[in-house]
Amino acid sequence: MVDSVFMAELSWPEWQTKVEAGAIILLPLGATEQHGPHLPLNVDVILPTAVAESVARHIGGLVAPTLQYGYKSMPRTGGGQSFPGTTSLDAQTFSHTIRDVIRDMGLHGARRFVIINGHFENAWPSVEGLDLALRDLRAEGIRDVKAMRLEYWDFVQRETLDRIFPGGFPGTELEHASLIETSLMLRLRPDLVDLSKIPQESRANFPPYDIVPPPPGYLRKSGVLADARGSCAEIGQWLLDDHVTMITAALTKEFGR
Ligand code: ZN
Ligand code: MN
Repeated sequence: MVDSVFMAELSWPEWQTKVEAGAIILLPLGATEQHGPHLPLNVDVILPTAVAESVARHIGGLVAPTLQYGYKSMPRTGGGQSFPGTTSLDAQTFSHTIRDVIRDMGLHGARRFVIINGHFENAWPSVEGLDLALRDLRAEGIRDVKAMRLEYWDFVQRETLDRIFPGGFPGTELEHASLIETSLMLRLRPDLVDLSKIPQESRANFPPYDIVPPPPGYLRKSGVLADARGSCAEIGQWLLDDHVTMITAALTKEFGR
């Protein structure tokens, strides 16, 4: 029998057996989005998938295929849609993809789901997708589904952030393609990081509102929103340890052992 935490690597009887035994399905949400000149387009796919894989090993869960496309990139959190390579879905398409995936798995017996989001802009459309899935399942008479939805970067200790940002953590929104994501990539896929291309620039300074369409000079040219200099695999390891430990603890609290 194949034993993999990745759902797609199992045969259907193996999947069915694990789901009937109560396995939690972890669904990572990614994006195909520019991450500056030094990182690949699939950062938001690699990071939540890696977190989900480790968590699944701890709890005996299954990782469903990661959504490779996400909701549209915004200038103040992801650089914006105008970068070549940033390839996104309309919110409705994205929500409906989540709805369809969870509904089908629910119809096949899965009852416990955890959505692990890896792309800032996916947050609210994923709430919608989950809500629609549960509504569809209720219409089919299935009322015992329990789901959790989270952003993996929220699972980090204050002390870890203080160690990484001695001058104070500026917040997750501007962390796009910056120190945190670059360090995690150096830990997980150093082969995809080109340190020589990290922009020599500090944090972007956006007003607290959006302008549509973005006026000249509004977008960050490099696609990097904060300072990525100083990124290293060790920082990536600290973050990964926190993410996996704290998400595992939250799942154990909500779903039991
Ligand atoms: Zn990202
Ligand atoms: Mn993103």
